[in-house]
Amino acid sequence: MTANAESAAAEDPLAGLAAALFRPMDAEGVYARTALYEGVIEALGARVSAQRVPEAEVLRFPPVMSRRQLEKSGYLDSFPNLLGCVCALHGSESAIRSAADRYAKGGDWTSALAPSDLVLSPAACYPLYPLVAARGRVPAAGLIFDVAGDCFRREPSRSLDRLQSFRMREFVRVGTAEQIREFRDDWMTRAQTLAQDLGLAATLEVASDPFFGRVGQMKAVSQVQQSLKFELLIPYHAGTRPTACMSFNYHREHFGQVWGIQGERGELAHTGCVAFGMDRLAVALFAQHGTVTARWPAGVRRALAL
Ligand code: ATP
Ligand code: ZN
Ligand code: MG
Repeated sequence: MTANAESAAAEDPLAGLAAALFRPMDAEGVYARTALYEGVIEALGARVSAQRVPEAEVLRFPPVMSRRQLEKSGYLDSFPNLLGCVCALHGSESAIRSAADRYAKGGDWTSALAPSDLVLSPAACYPLYPLVAARGRVPAAGLIFDVAGDCFRREPSRSLDRLQSFRMREFVRVGTAEQIREFRDDWMTRAQTLAQDLGLAATLEVASDPFFGRVGQMKAVSQVQQSLKFELLIPYHAGTRPTACMSFNYHREHFGQVWGIQGERGELAHTGCVAFGMDRLAVALFAQHGTVTARWPAGVRRALAL
């Protein structure tokens, strides 16, 4: 190892994994994924699917969603710093041509960009709530969904557990407060069993979202006081700060209110979601068990059908 590589490894013990799992794409936290890595992502995905209840409806979302819908969801109040918006060159052929030509002449073409009606989805469940609302009242048994999508958050980092572009899989429950609580409690237990089956040392802790700014800190305190969010934390390496690989979120009536989702008697529906950070879970497996899956513990390989 060169002195530089050594100090990089000391800063980030995951650095050594990168060569086996990822290829650089000239942007922090944005990587091409190797076959080795994707094999484990697929195995994890199958393991999660095996735990899906039969009544769950499956939806897969593209990496972009309606800007209007995300604005209405309140995202700009809470995480304006993380949001990525799709911009494009609009206008006449000559306006677009002259902007593009500025690049060829060594100038800046991006000043001509204007926002479009799309944003990059920052979490997998946002596009679901308006779809649920459009279906009318939620039946007494409530609803359950299995959703997933590529997510973007503007948090560039060199650390392999904080990406700008990553995959999120979620089970989302819509119903009464009691139904959400039961769903979330059940998953907090199941997730710990899953971690155990995967040979990962995990702890469950009450958590808060990374709300923006000083007002955000107050929101975070209130979120913790109400125990609205828990995280499954996995230490990638002994002595390092553990990484949140799953979260268990109770939104109360927030999305019910925003989208007008009602229960059978017209009361506001409650929602909750259980999110699997697929990339963080995969990196955790490699950090714990190494880059040769054939040498992973037999129990782990069985759990993943590897
Ligand atoms: P963190 O506290 O690490 O910033 P978060 O609390 O904002 O994460 P959630 O909004 O709960 O994360 O997202 C659900 C899951 O998605 C997280 O538990 C994590 O596993 C994964 N995730 C979130 N942000 C990233 C990221 N930047 N890179 C990779 N995975 C992520
Ligand atoms: Zn969610
Ligand atoms: Mg967190």
